[in-house]
Amino acid sequence: MKTYNYSDLSKDDIIKLVQRNVDPANEIRAIVEEVLSTVQQNGDRALFDYASKFDKVILDKLYLDKAELEELASNVSTDQKAALDTAYNNIYKFHLTQLKTEDKVETMPGVTCWRELRPIEKVGLYIPGGTAVLPSTFLMLGIPARIAGCHEIVVCSPPQKSGKVNAFIAYVALLLGIDKIYMAGGAQAVAAMAYGTETISKVDKIFGPGNQFVTKAKTIVQSTTTTAIDMPAGPSEVLVIADETAQPEFIAADLLAQAEHGIDSQAVLVTTSTHIAEVTLAEVERQAAVLPRAEIVQQALYNSYVVITNTLSEAMNFSNVYAPEHLILATDNWQEITGEIINAGSVFLGNLTPESVGDYASGTNHTLPTSSYARAYSGVSVDSFVKKITFQHISPEGIKNIGPSVEILAELEGLHAHKNAVSVRMK
Ligand code: NAD
Repeated sequence: MKTYNYSDLSKDDIIKLVQRNVDPANEIRAIVEEVLSTVQQNGDRALFDYASKFDKVILDKLYLDKAELEELASNVSTDQKAALDTAYNNIYKFHLTQLKTEDKVETMPGVTCWRELRPIEKVGLYIPGGTAVLPSTFLMLGIPARIAGCHEIVVCSPPQKSGKVNAFIAYVALLLGIDKIYMAGGAQAVAAMAYGTETISKVDKIFGPGNQFVTKAKTIVQSTTTTAIDMPAGPSEVLVIADETAQPEFIAADLLAQAEHGIDSQAVLVTTSTHIAEVTLAEVERQAAVLPRAEIVQQALYNSYVVITNTLSEAMNFSNVYAPEHLILATDNWQEITGEIINAGSVFLGNLTPESVGDYASGTNHTLPTSSYARAYSGVSVDSFVKKITFQHISPEGIKNIGPSVEILAELEGLHAHKNAVSVRMK
């Protein structure tokens, strides 16, 4: 990990430093466009071919049904079930509070406006399963989809070497009451959910994180089809802000937790203390040496770095430009700086709040905007699975009150039919 001094960095240096996963030569785009058009043309056949090409598995069918999921789930141990149940309950509890009925508003006597929620009917969930299988992501997407009341939930996840999904994904499917999982990964899964194939239904909105192929495919189908996406949730990243009250052992563990996601993940430490930076870097080396995914970690750390600032406010300025998916405030003084946070996906406060708890089980969602999209996007929530439809009702008193203003406004825009639609009701 390289170290930079914030005071030596120009505005342009900072803009370059915070760029990640930009695909400047459009290499990822070219691969993804070909996958998308092949699936659009060849449907299921393309999914079988890509499973063989990218996932190195020959499938004889594209999905697992309820009986197969039950059989797989029977391999999950009691302890593992209890941990998944704990995560399920906490995530459910937190997300249930997001389902709110809004008040009706009488904007003037007799003119009443309000919004009502309706679930998105058909949603597609992408559960990553390339370098690691993520049943936690299935909980993070399936629970808000169920709370929202989505009618059809299509789930795609890459097939494993066994030609199936793993037992934990199967167990989560049963927890969520989902009785079919399609074994498709990468851009081809996104294509299947956006265009539909003989077996997989086209959906209204695609959710879920994934690698650069998945994320690029989502951003392309969003602009070329009627299928929406939750957000660009690509390779994971963390930014840790630390002062002298931080614990280097904890910071190193958090940086490595991010680095093990994939070679394109990024871990950034921004600290006011050169001492904390030095001890943390030594600790990163010590802890990384014994991690099973050491090779992935080393490559991710190569893209990671440390920034030394003079104050916590400077650190926060850098973080706001970076707009991290995960922001950890590794300081006893976190209360002093939370008000300065402008851009972040999810925030972890103090020295005893590791990002891992939010990844799995505290209750918040872990599907979050990456690559600085946190400047404008929020993470997944129940809101992501509903539409908010506006309603209005005008009474006889209301049309008298609002009519004259609308007639004048329609006239000043030269839209006489608009004016007339009010005038005929005021007679
Ligand atoms: P994945 O399921 O996203 O991708 C695996 C698929 O990628 C494979 O099935 C294959 O079809 C496709 N693929 C692999 N190599 C390819 C190639 N050369 N050309 C075309 N397609 C190819 O699983 P993953 O790779 O483990 O990545 C998961 C990602 O999800 C990680 O980057 C992780 O950081 C990220 N993640 C993000 C969040 C978030 O909220 N932003 C949350 C969890 C995970």
